[in-house]
Amino acid sequence: MMTEIIKKLINLLGEKKVKFSKDYLEKYGIDWYKEIKPDPTAIVFPYNENDLQEIVLFAEKEDQKLVISGGRTGLCGGATAANKEIVVSLEKMNDMNWIPKKNQVVCQAGAITDNVKNFVAEHDRLLPISLASSSSSSIGGNVATNAAGSKFIKYGSTKDHIAKIKVMLANGEMLTLKKEIKKDATGPNLMELFFGSEGVLGIIYEVTFNTCEQPKYIENILIRTGELNFIRQHILAPEVKNIISSIEYWDENCQKLLGDSPESTYFVVVELSSSSKDEIDLCLETLAEKNINIALLNSKQSDEIWAKREDLPVNLASKGAYKMDISVPLETLENFLDEIKKLSPNEMFSFGHLGDGNIHINIVSESNKGKLIDEVYGLLKIHHGSPSAEHGIGQRKKEIWTKFEGYQDKYKLLQTLKKSMDPKNILSPKVFFE
Ligand SMILES: Cc1cc2nc3c(=O)[nH]c(=O)nc-3n(C[C@H](O)[C@H](O)[C@H](O)COP(=O)(O)OP(=O)(O)OC[C@H]3O[C@@H](n4cnc5c(N)ncnc54)[C@H](O)[C@@H]3O)c2cc1C
Repeated sequence: MMTEIIKKLINLLGEKKVKFSKDYLEKYGIDWYKEIKPDPTAIVFPYNENDLQEIVLFAEKEDQKLVISGGRTGLCGGATAANKEIVVSLEKMNDMNWIPKKNQVVCQAGAITDNVKNFVAEHDRLLPISLASSSSSSIGGNVATNAAGSKFIKYGSTKDHIAKIKVMLANGEMLTLKKEIKKDATGPNLMELFFGSEGVLGIIYEVTFNTCEQPKYIENILIRTGELNFIRQHILAPEVKNIISSIEYWDENCQKLLGDSPESTYFVVVELSSSSKDEIDLCLETLAEKNINIALLNSKQSDEIWAKREDLPVNLASKGAYKMDISVPLETLENFLDEIKKLSPNEMFSFGHLGDGNIHINIVSESNKGKLIDEVYGLLKIHHGSPSAEHGIGQRKKEIWTKFEGYQDKYKLLQTLKKSMDPKNILSPKVFFE
């Protein structure tokens, strides 16, 4: 319906940049967390900095709430607009530029992650943001959630590659924040404020990434195992660890879901990468000497196994799984997983980034869901884990602030920052806060 607000938006931006038909509202009003019903007023598509500023100043003047939307692959309802907000989709702002002297890529926030990675690869460099969602996620969303993924163990998370960002505040002001030199004590690194800020403190407009050397040699090994302590003892041992770029696993239930007949409790895939073939060979020899039952995969097998790993979240979502994203210290991981399994052997599916202790527990149960979630959180507290390892808080996990110890001061500081940076509460008002 053409409301007064929509008329004003069209006057401001023109018809091309303002959409309000049912299909647009349904598509752009929601992310991957489907439990919140979308109900936005309109979707706006800024094409440049000026458009974005017009939208923000309009929202401030008209007291309209904004929800910032990237690729909408978020799993916590951060990009879902359920209360007549205006959704600001950044997808039209997707330019990329290469800075040869610095091996840096500068991209607008709406650029799709895979497009940026491919662009960087054309310059024989690597942007190691490795998510199963990277064909749809945006760079702005990656920064706003500080996305991690399967290569965290070697390369860290999105923030570890950022040299500079341009971010628009709720008053329409554009800030440029940078940390290009490692040793730099010019006060606190305030760029960090926006990493994981989920659209609440500002709108990320442009990001400059440092890039990494492409590893010349990559090998994948498969380990079928009933126990996991060898990961910490051997795979993460100092003489091996520096060439490990990924340690992913899935459990028996996930193996069955993928159509395989499980030969072991855990299916572990380890990726080794280096610019030196000798280094990889030495690592494989070291592992073989430890009597670890490893199978070296050829490139076809590797591709098939990684495709299966990427299919898992999609498969589980189609079964209506309730997804938990937690991490526990590696020392306690094996016990933790045993205890999780015992809670309900057929309803708990787990997979994830084993090398980081980051487990995606998927509960496939209608009748027991609530009880199992509480029990997992109960175990997590005993094992001193994190209730959100890489997916953020969004609108979905706000209870973490009160239910878990140690987050209350962070919440208070966030409230203070929000009040001073966005006093009219325009940006994503339902994310983090009530
Ligand atoms: C199949 C699948 C696999 C996944 N695997 C991983 C994984 O391995 N690791 C991981 O960390 N995550 C993973 N995710 C979660 C998700 O892909 C990431 O959180 C991703 O970074 C979100 O990017 P997006 O562009 O889709 O963001 P959106 O979903 O659009 O938004 C996420 C949040 O960021 C805010 N936001 C978006 N753009 C901006 C901007 N320009 N400025 C300010 N705020 C903004 C939104 O308002 C929202 O709060 C996965 C998701 C799926 C569906």
